[in-house]
Amino acid sequence: MTSVVEARQARRGWSPQAAVLLVAGWLATVGNLPLWRAVWALPEHNGWRGLVFSAALAVWIGAALVVLLSLLAWPRLFKAVAVVLLMVAGASTYFMLQYGVVIDSTMMVNVVNTDPREVRDLLSWTLLFSMLLVGVLPALWLWHQDILWRRWWPQTWRNAVASLLALGVLGAVTIASYQDLASLMRNHKHVRFLFNPLNVLYGGGKLVAHTLPQASLTLQAIGQDARPGPTYAATTRTPLVVLVVGETARAANFSLGGYSRQTNPELGQLRSDGGLTYFTDVLSCGTNTQASVPCMFSHLGKQAYEAGRQPFENLLDVLHRAGLAVLWLDNQSGCKGLCARVDQVITRTLDDPALCGGGECFDEIMLKGLDQRIAALDPARRARGVVVVMHQMGSHGPAYYRRSPPAFKKFMPECASNVLQDCPREQLVNAYDNTILYTDHVLASTARWLDRAARDQPLDTALVYVSDHGESLGENNLYLHGLPYALAPQQQIHVPMLTWLSGPMQKRLGVRQDCLQKSATAPLTHDNLFHSMLGLLDVNTSVYLPRLDLFAGCR
Ligand SMILES: [Zn+2]
Repeated sequence: MTSVVEARQARRGWSPQAAVLLVAGWLATVGNLPLWRAVWALPEHNGWRGLVFSAALAVWIGAALVVLLSLLAWPRLFKAVAVVLLMVAGASTYFMLQYGVVIDSTMMVNVVNTDPREVRDLLSWTLLFSMLLVGVLPALWLWHQDILWRRWWPQTWRNAVASLLALGVLGAVTIASYQDLASLMRNHKHVRFLFNPLNVLYGGGKLVAHTLPQASLTLQAIGQDARPGPTYAATTRTPLVVLVVGETARAANFSLGGYSRQTNPELGQLRSDGGLTYFTDVLSCGTNTQASVPCMFSHLGKQAYEAGRQPFENLLDVLHRAGLAVLWLDNQSGCKGLCARVDQVITRTLDDPALCGGGECFDEIMLKGLDQRIAALDPARRARGVVVVMHQMGSHGPAYYRRSPPAFKKFMPECASNVLQDCPREQLVNAYDNTILYTDHVLASTARWLDRAARDQPLDTALVYVSDHGESLGENNLYLHGLPYALAPQQQIHVPMLTWLSGPMQKRLGVRQDCLQKSATAPLTHDNLFHSMLGLLDVNTSVYLPRLDLFAGCR
């Protein structure tokens, strides 16, 4: 017996409980730099009061982590869990410090769905620093420490006691600083998403809870009664509609909507020529691509879409079922499953010498050879009508400067760094405005191509454009997008939307352009897209709701 005790004492190492405390303490303090920065920036928490409250918060987070880590304090398991937590904390520290974003489940979907090109956009020295300081160095240190594990039973009860004690501390701190905690949560809702790495664990758990049941559910068909409406019998001409899904374009920077800089010279000309309507008051469904794009194509609308778990078919399936040819052109991160049952061409990976480079292509690539791409679609469907969706690269950040070709760099100097805070704000806005100027050119070129098609061929053509979400450009020290919707500033959810109808399409639908112009200031949302597309293409189905069709009131 004595020899066992001596042997234990001879081994130098940490008790499991000490190791748990060290990891939890490190994460609760150094791992929460963005939280301390946010708390100290609040007017009610300066000076001593701020210090005491920050300390209480650190103890609260530390205790919560001890509760969790104590339950996982087992040989082999503990170090692995701790290393993952440290790395995750390092990465989310970087995102929060760098972009003023908070970490919730929608933000995490972004990260999970990030492709290598986006990762390259995000690499920077700050990332290296955050990862090294918060994650890698403590993880390396921990990995090389000896932890003096006990036998199964003594370890179990020690873990249980430690976890219960920490739970007690958590409760005591909550009660002691309840007033401050409650007012913080009430007045500054976003702060709770800064609790690192609890925010990641919570968001991840929510995500799994939401996606797992969905994965096992079967896709529900919608619009099984979809048929071409009366216009198809009334004329031998066929519809050709292009729907452009914009990326990260915010309404605030569209001169069509009143922005003081001329970012829409070509579209502005089209509006003067007639046919183009810019809708000034449109809200997005979500604050990131992954949330907004499937919602836009859903018949459910934002509220029911977010509440439901059942996966449904989408707009493209209904159009396809009505017998139309549907083609999805993707110049970005993919169609999020929307185009699974229609034709798709990925243009991002093409190697056109003039438009492509560095693993991506400028958005004009989607217009290149479009006649041939359409000619290759199913002839029977093509004879009825064609819908082309263009998924833009648009204004995808943070490397805005990569998204506009040299000819469209009119606002200079522009920020040429991924580290947005390193640039003066004017340069950041310049780089962003150049992407809007380029989108202006892409949209106007598409409208001109459709105009020619309507003149040269028996085609009734139209263009619809709407962005998926907006962007913060440093307002209130916020950057990029992806804030939880309820907390998101206007810049992230107010999106540009426009329609352009060729003369023949106006005639086909009996839509009066002056009436559309008058309705251009009415409040709209992404909910209107599904029904307006069905209205524009005159597809009859029971899922179509005329009250959400922005053309319906102007027939
Ligand atoms: Zn997006």
